[in-house]
Amino acid sequence: MTIAVYPGTFDPITNGHLDIVKRAALLFDRIIMGVYEKSNKHLVFTTEERVELARLAVADIPNVEVKSFSGLTVDFARGEEAPVMVRGLRMNADFEKEFEMALMNRKLAPDLDLLCLMASQEYQFLSSSLLKEVARLNGNISDLVPEHVAEALRKKFTV
Ligand code: ADP
Repeated sequence: MTIAVYPGTFDPITNGHLDIVKRAALLFDRIIMGVYEKSNKHLVFTTEERVELARLAVADIPNVEVKSFSGLTVDFARGEEAPVMVRGLRMNADFEKEFEMALMNRKLAPDLDLLCLMASQEYQFLSSSLLKEVARLNGNISDLVPEHVAEALRKKFTV
């Protein structure tokens, strides 16, 4: 049985993340999404909220589960006995960062490999930060996130 972890901030989960996790779920027996507890990004949702939003989003994919973690991603992967880490790659936004991180992770954990799935065309431009900006300004985000995530964003940004 091959297990893969899919780590990220997921603040909040978007259809871009979901596209990656659905495709990864066809390639591996089990996918464990890892939600970073302590991200250095400016977060809108708490760890519990990010986990809950992701859990609801993947509820219909039987071989995907969601956990939170702190510390090094390579240690999270090791703890889950996953030899593979999955990440999504958008055309311009991600390559250098992912490459740099992959080399560091390879140094820290030579037995953990990285599988990058190319983001689908319709989600190339989609990032959680842009999404939050649009939601904050009351823009239409219905095509970009599951309905319960849109609702959670509306609640956060309604004063
Ligand atoms: P991180 O802080 O680790 O970048 P994110 O939640 O922003 O966390 O992203 C988690 C993973 O999902 C990363 O591999 C990122 O490149 C990927 N990702 C983010 N947005 C998209 C998207 N629109 N399409 C495909 N992959 C994406």
